[in-house]
Amino acid sequence: MTSPTSSQVTHDVASWAQSRINMDEIAAWRPGGRDFIDPNAIRAHLQRAAEQPPDAQRVRDILAKARAIHTLSLDELATLLHVTDPALWEEMRTVAAEIKLKVYDRRIVTFAPLYIGNCCVNNCLYCGLRVENRHMDRRVLSMTELRNEVEVLAGRIGHKRLIIVFGEHPSMDVDFICECIRTIYSVRVRARVGWGSIRRVNVNAPPLRIEELRRLHEAGLGTYQVFQETYDPELYRQVHPAAFKANYSWRLYTMHRAMAAGIDDVGIGALFGLGDWKFEVMGLLAHAIELERVFGVGPHTISFPRLEPADHAPYVQETRWRVSDTDMERIVVLLRLAVPYTGMILTAREPPDVRRRLLQLGVTQTDGSARIAVGGYSTSDVRSEQSMERQQFMLGDTRSLDDLVRDLAEMGLIVSFCTAGYRCGRTGQCIMDLLRSGAEARFCKLNAILTYREWLDDFASEPTREAGERVLQREIGEVRRTMPRWWPAFDAAYQRVAAGERDIYF
Ligand code: SF4
Repeated sequence: MTSPTSSQVTHDVASWAQSRINMDEIAAWRPGGRDFIDPNAIRAHLQRAAEQPPDAQRVRDILAKARAIHTLSLDELATLLHVTDPALWEEMRTVAAEIKLKVYDRRIVTFAPLYIGNCCVNNCLYCGLRVENRHMDRRVLSMTELRNEVEVLAGRIGHKRLIIVFGEHPSMDVDFICECIRTIYSVRVRARVGWGSIRRVNVNAPPLRIEELRRLHEAGLGTYQVFQETYDPELYRQVHPAAFKANYSWRLYTMHRAMAAGIDDVGIGALFGLGDWKFEVMGLLAHAIELERVFGVGPHTISFPRLEPADHAPYVQETRWRVSDTDMERIVVLLRLAVPYTGMILTAREPPDVRRRLLQLGVTQTDGSARIAVGGYSTSDVRSEQSMERQQFMLGDTRSLDDLVRDLAEMGLIVSFCTAGYRCGRTGQCIMDLLRSGAEARFCKLNAILTYREWLDDFASEPTREAGERVLQREIGEVRRTMPRWWPAFDAAYQRVAAGERDIYF
């Protein structure tokens, strides 16, 4: 038997990639073949706002709308984007922090990224996994290796949520993704008092077709996450040279297809540093508005990763749009105000000091003990050196989950390991309504406390446990004071968890 030549392999991969796009699936949402993102309209909004310095009263009216948990318009966001008065900015920061507290309380949800494979047919100029990076050590986890990874994540570190990450490659098709989800849910590991398992598997995967997305949904997918990277179609074409990912519209309408497939927890995002950050913030809002308009449900989460050093990724060196720490803070405040109900994800790309600041301003989810090399949890200590040859980019924060939980506790924040929402059907429209009304903040407090109790008993080091107990007692006191109707049921559940029962939720 003869092996295929490299040009045959390239051709097969290219035709596989091409066969995955079916523009008919998105035609109904693109009247006249036009995308919902109109770059000229976004630029016109920005231009108009730049020409008229924002009036303080108008800014305050917009803030009042955000405070009432209403999505802003593009025009309103453009106005906020051009506020330069430091005192008005301070008001915006204060309102953003207030909204975070109203909608999400003092909870931070944690998760771990788990890279399943680093093979990819695409050639994104900013990514270490791009097909033309011949220095990458490529591999895809076997199911045995995946189990080993999950045993560390769930049994040693104590994670309950994962975001599993796939490159775009025939070796990681939808059958494979579904098998990964099922394998992860099947792992159960003995912990100090109870047991560890992953209770929510979110997926960051290539844009799939509707039928494929239905299958992910059936396999128990949590949130489906696909980032547009940049909402500017022209820039998009420049940084995604011809490959599957070169099709801007197919990617842009991924979440439409997901919702049509019954997935109502979707995560959108943009990669900040590719282009003008103001344009991207407007693009994210336009995406949220579009999903609300068509499906009545906006994005479950928004991510705003910053471009990081990556191996053999020319655009990272060339970009003139690097985002400063100050602008990063602005991005968080503006997104919190513009889409007040949404979850906001900040990852270990950012160093600890930046994470600390942004977690106070509006972020609701972050990762701990993050490793992004394939097999990085089970084959090395979580603190060991990062490797350019094995990972997509370099992380800014490799602290353990234990260190992160302690740090957050010292900031007065409680880590929630709760995954009850989607298992009780609190997703999509239902969760949107709860978030908008502020009911979710109080409701989830109960589950946050129960899962925090579990984690402190099963996984925390002694210093973390001490810091965590202080936060826990404060939260329990608040439930007793402010939720008297819930207190008896909650207290009974808490006592059961403290005695070693696991996975009890409201
Ligand atoms: S960004 Fe994603 S699609 Fe692009 S090369 Fe990297 S892994 Fe592949």
